[in-house]
Amino acid sequence: MLVYDIHDLTKIYPGQTRPANDRITLQIEAGEVFGLLGENGAGKSTLVRQMANLTRSTSGSITLFGAPVDAVGADPLHVPRCVGYMPQEPGAMNLLTIGEALYFTAHLRGLSRADARRERDRLLDLWGIGDLRDRATPRLSGGQRRLLRLAVAMAGMPPVLILDEPTNDLDPQRRKMVWDNLRRLNHEQGTTIIFVTHDAIEAEKIIQRVCIMRDGRVVALGRPGELKQRVDQKLRLELFFAPGAPPRLPDGFTPRRIEPGRWLVLLERAQIGETVNGLDLDRLDDFRLYSATLEDLYLHYANDAHSTQA
Ligand code: ADP
Repeated sequence: MLVYDIHDLTKIYPGQTRPANDRITLQIEAGEVFGLLGENGAGKSTLVRQMANLTRSTSGSITLFGAPVDAVGADPLHVPRCVGYMPQEPGAMNLLTIGEALYFTAHLRGLSRADARRERDRLLDLWGIGDLRDRATPRLSGGQRRLLRLAVAMAGMPPVLILDEPTNDLDPQRRKMVWDNLRRLNHEQGTTIIFVTHDAIEAEKIIQRVCIMRDGRVVALGRPGELKQRVDQKLRLELFFAPGAPPRLPDGFTPRRIEPGRWLVLLERAQIGETVNGLDLDRLDDFRLYSATLEDLYLHYANDAHSTQA
């Protein structure tokens, strides 16, 4: 089932000449974990705000489950009923406590009072913020606010989540909790998850399909595995050693220095056996061999002037 069908979508903000996004066409299927990646200013937040019907498009169309999102005459409650949206910046919840914000959101999404109370308690527990239940939202740290916004987006179990930078400001432990919870939600409930990030390393943990944007345009769209094959077939051999005591490498290999004590060597597949056998293991603390990552893809498409519209 198609969740979003976006066709030729363009947004030019008032007073601007350059479009924030420019003829975007893409579809998102039910149950997908779909990541939007790109540099700051690439147009990601604008696109998800258009999808959440918070920014009116200049031209083009968006439908959600087959019904128009922002066309004249569209039902203004269609998006809020189906989509939990987590903005990058906090919304107008400042007068509420955490518990109230969750309870009211769940109730507004159609849960009875008793079910909304249960949903509040479930989310406080899921995000490990139970001890903050009666805390007013202005008195939260940046990380706590982000977890609250995630919990609010999920309240009432909408079938679609749109999350703008869900892990910014979070420590590594909480980042892991976010990706683990989202992965579980997708597996167990089939929730469609659309998220924006500029952290490709983090995104790799969960992403099923990626859209890389640059200057308001889609420059790559597909499964990371497919896109990686188009970018680069070379394998990455990372070598870790005591700074100042580099290992010997077989002739003809030029390492790229990542930081003191860490080299990266790019290898053709046929060179793996010979290279790994020839490694001077006594001088290595560790080594790692892997194919192109989502970060490599990102660097290629988000920065490479030669990449083309997918
Ligand atoms: P991203 O989320 O990828 O960082 P944005 O969608 O926030 O990108 O921004 C895309 C472009 O639109 C940028 O050039 C940004 O300066 C511009 N922009 C974003 N919001 C507004 C606004 N409210 N008014 C004018 N220009 C805006």
